Amino acid sequence: MSLDLAETLSIIVPLAFAFAFGACVGSLINVLVYRLPLGLSVITPPSRCPSCETRLTWRENIPVLGWLLLRGRCRFCRSKISPEYPLVEAFVGLLFVGLYAMCFLISPNANLAGVPIGMIRPEWGLNGFVGVWPVFIVVAVLFASLTAMTIVDARTFTIPLELAWFASAVALLLHTAWAVVVEFSPGGGLAFVARDWDWAIATPWGWGIGQAWGGWQWVGASLGGTIGLGLSLLLLRVGLLRRSFEDYAEWEAQHASTLHGAAPTAAGPAASAASGSDRAAETGPLTNLDAPPTASTALTPPATPTGTDAHAAFANPTDLWVAYPHARREMLRELAFLGPPVGLAYLGAILMLHLAGQGGWIAPLWLKVLAGVLLGFLVGGGVVWFVRILGSLAFGKEAMGLGDVHLMAAVGAALGWVDAVLAFFLAAFVGVAWAILARVAIGSNARAMPYGPFLAIATALVFVGKPLIERGLSHLFVTPVPINLP
Ligand SMILES: [Zn+2]
Repeated sequence: MSLDLAETLSIIVPLAFAFAFGACVGSLINVLVYRLPLGLSVITPPSRCPSCETRLTWRENIPVLGWLLLRGRCRFCRSKISPEYPLVEAFVGLLFVGLYAMCFLISPNANLAGVPIGMIRPEWGLNGFVGVWPVFIVVAVLFASLTAMTIVDARTFTIPLELAWFASAVALLLHTAWAVVVEFSPGGGLAFVARDWDWAIATPWGWGIGQAWGGWQWVGASLGGTIGLGLSLLLLRVGLLRRSFEDYAEWEAQHASTLHGAAPTAAGPAASAASGSDRAAETGPLTNLDAPPTASTALTPPATPTGTDAHAAFANPTDLWVAYPHARREMLRELAFLGPPVGLAYLGAILMLHLAGQGGWIAPLWLKVLAGVLLGFLVGGGVVWFVRILGSLAFGKEAMGLGDVHLMAAVGAALGWVDAVLAFFLAAFVGVAWAILARVAIGSNARAMPYGPFLAIATALVFVGKPLIERGLSHLFVTPVPINLP
């Protein structure tokens, strides 16, 4: 009996921790999704009632429970507190519980009514929490930031770039640092990984992709591409490269009145001016340096956070965005920005191939993992950017947003390039499914949707549904041995 109790506790205690930790992260997300789009400080002031500004006590600050204690009303002014707060907290708590159970608790042979659900446990999860906890943190941070990006994007059609950068930075740091630790521990590698791969994410040495030359060309490409990205950002800083869509705010201000007769009400120009400075930042590719939010989607202008005025002025807020005539020209600027990364990636590949590949050097694990993270970042972001540029050139309107580029770069950094590419293609199907559902549920007037949420949902589907994807790909390409993805 005592053994059963110990066993039960060994399951319940970590799950309770996962929920509590996730709920606290959800509480932070509530702050972030409110303050980031408004450009407010994330740290100060402490949480307050939105109507009377009474500060919350520590007890009222407890995730989920605080709201329940208050029964959804402010203690002081009795105004309602949105149930969104406890719902987001509970959602992220359950998200972390689900991730933990999926990675570390479910038996690989588990069966539910004939369905082998144990297959969803990733191979690296078999190392146990102690063996791969930094990888788990990377995954948890990614899905938490995807949750936050989804909420903001669905509301404002923008993605605060800090959320994507944070997930990417955590992935870069923890994946690489843990590879160093694992490499210099007895055994020298993870005991359990997907067949033919050497880490929890795809690295250049897996699956025969780079093995012909030891994978060095991909190490060179990822390092060179990253250096090129830094170079382009520098050139942007000093003004040798130009931001795309930097004149959009000005253009909008000029055309707001001509496009809609009703626009020059007090609200119209004021709203444009107010959002103008933000919008330049939102749309510039590279915009990230100065101001956070970036337009995440095509054909849909960022609704200003205080946007009721703007909506009143413009019959349809997407009209101006779509009417902007220079989308093709702006794509040339973005191509110029991409020149250094692409060029240096190519140079790096050739250089490393000559230096290391033909010299027969053996790469240390940490370098493989570092290259895997950078490759995921570049490929994840690159595939979205490629489609954005092609689409914009083809249609003459901005297709997909730069926020989506950053979002998928983060997915690639955390989960590897394979997952990022799969999720990107799956997202289109998620979007179509959503459109059909929305049409059935709401009728034909379903509003335009930003693309970020579809990318986030597709990423979750790839993470959980990898066994199905592997099976599908094995059938599609008729491989002798079933495909096993990292
Ligand atoms: Zn109040």
